[in-house]
Amino acid sequence: MNEFDLIRRYFAPTDVLADQQAGVALGIGDDCAVLTPPAGMQLVISTDTLVAGRHFPLNTDAYSIGWKAAAVNLSDIAAMGAKPHSLLLALSLPAVDEVFLADFSRGLFDLCAQHGVHLIGGDTTKSPTLSISITALGWVACGQAVQRSGAAVGDLIVLTGTVGDAAYALQHAASPLQHRLDRPTPRVGFGQAVRGLASAMLDVSDGLAQDLGHLLHASAVGAWIDVDQLPMSSIVAAAPLMSRLHWALKGGDDYELCLTVAPARLPQVQQLARDTQTPLTVIGQIDAASGLRLQHDGQPLLMDLTGFMHFDQ
Ligand code: ADP
Ligand code: MG
Repeated sequence: MNEFDLIRRYFAPTDVLADQQAGVALGIGDDCAVLTPPAGMQLVISTDTLVAGRHFPLNTDAYSIGWKAAAVNLSDIAAMGAKPHSLLLALSLPAVDEVFLADFSRGLFDLCAQHGVHLIGGDTTKSPTLSISITALGWVACGQAVQRSGAAVGDLIVLTGTVGDAAYALQHAASPLQHRLDRPTPRVGFGQAVRGLASAMLDVSDGLAQDLGHLLHASAVGAWIDVDQLPMSSIVAAAPLMSRLHWALKGGDDYELCLTVAPARLPQVQQLARDTQTPLTVIGQIDAASGLRLQHDGQPLLMDLTGFMHFDQ
């Protein structure tokens, strides 16, 4: 099977008409895709690469790899308060493995279908290592993208879902949290719903402490968080304090949203969380002191908070 057969068989769009109705004037097959942006919207765009053995364990099943490659990108779009629209897929493969490609594309398309997202193009190459690079595109009303830089002193720090599950699963083979590592749930509906209510937002991919640090830096504020309020799955919460905090604060791959909200707006945000069936927890507050500080049992807690960084040795 050559490159073109492969694209046609596994990645060509199934419903060209539906794509066209959704603003894909021209999809896969030409030199470029052509989109018709909705009036009054801005294009929100982001790229994320997954390298085998680095971003997912080598033994991860192909369906999960396809799912996760799409999920981590949709999570970035959600973190801007935007509506995901389409993806471009740059795929580097050691060989044409049809079982792999069938499962990989099914995982990717299943998640895309859940969110009405279209695959509009990509590139396919041979490479010694399996690597997947996806560019995600989305729309947001002009000027409404939720940035990292909007947090204000007094805002509450709020987190969707639970943190530490993926890091726990990485260390415990065949745990009940394996799906949280393999098939993260991008918070697409909630991300869009809180646009206009969240003062700042990002998605947590490299550890909550490090990612929240980026938000604090961008907003030129500090914060405290109460580690006893951190939302954790029961199996993570049952671990000794330093283990569970290690996974919850420094572990990567959560793909939850961390946002800041003025206290008066919290009830509205909580209602939106209920409407979108999104678990939501207040974990701390923005203040004017510097950096991120932790509290445990009402006392300051000191801990090295560095998260995952490439090229960090
Ligand atoms: P070109 O050489 O002009 O870049 P290609 O031969 O690489 O074109 O790709 C042909 C068409 O197939 C293009 O529309 C491209 O976007 C699409 N395509 C290639 N690889 C993929 C892929 N992995 N997933 C989706 N679309 C792809
Ligand atoms: Mg090409």
